[in-house]
Parts: sequence; structure tokens; C-alpha cells
Amino acid sequence: MAFTAELRCMAVRDHGRWPLAQAIYRCPTCDSLLDVVHDMDALRTRSAADWKALFEARWRSPEEPYASGVWGKHEWVAPGVARANIVTAGEGATHLMPVPRLARELGLGDVRVKQCGTSHTGSFKDLGMTVLVSMVAQMIADGRPVRAVACASTGDTSAALAAYAAAANIPAVVILPRGKISTAQLVQPLASGALVLALDTDFDGCMTIVQQLAAQDGVYLANSMNALRLEGQKTVAIEMCQQLGWRVPDWVVIPGGNLGNVSALAAGFEMLRALGLTDVLPRICVAQTAHAGPLATSYDASWAPLVAVAAKTTLASAIQIGNPVSFPRAVRALRATDGVAVSVTEAELADAAAAADLGGLFTCPHTGVALAALGKLAARGLVRREHQVIVVSTASGLKFADFKVGYHEGRLADVPHPVHRNRPLELAATYDAVRRALDARLPP
Ligand SMILES: *Cc1c(COP(=O)(O)O)cnc(C)c1O
Ligand SMILES: [Zn+2]
Repeated sequence: MAFTAELRCMAVRDHGRWPLAQAIYRCPTCDSLLDVVHDMDALRTRSAADWKALFEARWRSPEEPYASGVWGKHEWVAPGVARANIVTAGEGATHLMPVPRLARELGLGDVRVKQCGTSHTGSFKDLGMTVLVSMVAQMIADGRPVRAVACASTGDTSAALAAYAAAANIPAVVILPRGKISTAQLVQPLASGALVLALDTDFDGCMTIVQQLAAQDGVYLANSMNALRLEGQKTVAIEMCQQLGWRVPDWVVIPGGNLGNVSALAAGFEMLRALGLTDVLPRICVAQTAHAGPLATSYDASWAPLVAVAAKTTLASAIQIGNPVSFPRAVRALRATDGVAVSVTEAELADAAAAADLGGLFTCPHTGVALAALGKLAARGLVRREHQVIVVSTASGLKFADFKVGYHEGRLADVPHPVHRNRPLELAATYDAVRRALDARLPP
């Protein structure tokens, strides 16, 4: 049985159908975003039990490309990409980490963190980028040259694109807001040899320009408005259920910026249900910062239309986005899952990240946003002790060392009183001084 997928208009399915290998990002008739639509009847020729067994057999397999959690789900993701053209760095198949200390503090029961930042370039962006770059490699192998792949980025997208493009020997162009991303995030695409363009604007300004380049200059657009990215990212939902023994969590909390990831998450849960591997959907919470929260604003006004804002500086720099491209997809996702959107302050996200670290994590600020939002849902009684909860961690804390250092040194903007601050004790180099310090601070 041949499995196939195609691009369709997200608003009106009959506006057209396009192959996944076509460089098209919006519907030519109505300008809506596109969805990847799989031939579900073909996928149904295999039973739910057979799919589960297949996915389990491939989990962290030594056989390439199945070391990758994404390509372990090849048929559900991009069936048209031949194995020979897959560009993978073993992304996905990440740990679903129980965090009992944190759960207790929030008055909750079973809380786990999906560690999507434990990945090749340190963020979940690898999950989408392996699919997109593999498809470009497929296009090139089919005799359709691509001049370059390009993206606008708040940091992590460019790191992932540059690394995967370098592995495939495809030129990459990344467009960044100058001075608005972390040092680690800037150096990653530089190290990968990408053409890095730092512009005096914000992410939304970069996004406008890269869309023009894609329309007029023969470069292939690698932002998440490109539906291929979401196909890889949706495997996070499949992994979560697989890791829970094919159960669906009650709640998933995920930080949102351009809102591609929440759209992908919901699509993954819907596909699992449509193919009979699960029978319910979780409730999804999108967490944003008060400095860049247009989805939360819309939600609070009963899903009012998007009001694009100029996003203010936030510690959660990867979600400093005021005009999210996937807004319509995200509203669809939250409506389908009885979802909510919550916004948090800078101090709340920083303290939540630090509290999680005290439970053994090392969380990026965006994961802090999700954790702070979970705290609010718990306080409101919306998430309760009997609920199984998953928080999506989107990046490695190691990419945000400035945030971590700044917190513990007490010099983060808008975080005047870091609750969990921890400082080194500077002591005389004597046994006595060290012993006295221990006696003063440790149980006997
Ligand atoms: C990209 C990114 C997000 C936001 O994902 P969207 O799909 O833009 O909503 C959150 N956290 C991190 C670390 C990211 O890199
Ligand atoms: Zn259309």
C-alpha cells in the first residue's frame, strides 16, 4: 500500500491540491495557510494495533533513520521522502520526565516534562527541520534545484535550519532581529556556515522580508508557515501517548510564539484519534508572556480576531512575536481541544524556571512560561491533582546561560526579587571556614 500526502487550503479544502514537494505556502485563491493532508484511508489499511507495534519496534532503534523519533513515524509524516534523502540528526524520541517535586509544590499529581530541547541543536525546531530539509534534498534529487533555504528566526529556527542544511550541503540564509537573540543562538548558524543577516527590526519585520524573498527570489521558505515543519513537530504528540502506554494526558501546556508548534501538537493528537490509536484529545494550554501575548488577548475576548502588536522585550526571546503567522491554525487547535491561552509576567516565568531547576531540570525561559502558566491553571482549579499533565519544554537551558546567570545574580530586567536566587559563598581557603559553612547550612 502506498501512503501519500498533499497540501490543501486550510480554509476551503477544494481550493486546490498541491504536492508536498511544491514550493507553495499559501492558498492562491484565498491566501489562507495550507495543511498537509494524508490519505487516511490508506493509513487505515493498517490497524491501530499494528501501528503501535511498528512505532514501538522503531523507538530509538539502532537502524537508521529510526533512531529519530520523527522518522520512526515516516508514513504519518512525509511518506513521499525516500529513505536515501532523509537528513536526520537523531532528533525526537526525547525523555518524558516525571517531576514529582515540582508537582507537589503546585498541589498536582502526575506532572511530566517532555524534553524537546534535548535535541541536536538544542530545541524542538529540529523536529520540523529534519522533515523540511529532507524534502528539499528530495526535490534536488528529483532534478529540481533549490537556490537556498531561508528563514526568519528568533534564534532556534535558524540554528536548526543552518545545521540540517549544512549536513545536506544546501545553502542556508537566516534573517535575525539584531541584538534580540542569545549569543549561543547567534553563533550556531554562523558555525554552520549560513549566510546570517542581522536586521534592525524585530522578528515580525524579518518574517515580512523572508516571505518576499520566497515569493520573488527562488529561495525555499523554512518558517513554520511552511506546513512541512508541522508534520515533524506533530510527532511530539504521538511520542507523548506512546510513552504513556498509548494513553492521552488530560492537559498539555506549551509555550507559543508564532504558534506553529501548538498547531502541530493538536494535529498529532487528532491523527492518533482518527486512526484509532487513542480515543480522546487532551486539553491544550498555550502559554505566552504578557509582553507578547496576542493569542492570550484573543482568547480572553472570546476568540476575537488577531490584533497584531509590537512585541515588547521579554526574557522568553524565542516567543517575542506580536503577529503570529499560525494564529488561525492555533485558534482551530484550541477550539478543537477545549483549550485555553494564559499569559504570565517576566518575574513569574523566571521564578517558575528556577523552581523547576530546583527539581533537577535546567529550563529555558520559554519552558518557564509554560510552567508559570501551569501554576496559574492549578491555582484556578482548572488543572487538578487527578489530572495527568505534560509540560512541553521547547529548548535546552544551556542555550540561555545569560538568563540563568542573570537570574542568580539578580540582574534580570523586570525580575527585581528572584525568589530562588542561589549564590556561591566566597570563603577563606581553610578547613574551618568550609566546615562552619556546612554546619550552618546542612542538616547535621
Ligand atoms: C520557536 C520556539 C517556541 C515557539 O514555537 P512557535 O511554533 O513559534 O509557537 C517556543 N520556545 C522555543 C524555545 C522556541 O524556539
Ligand atoms: Zn483557499
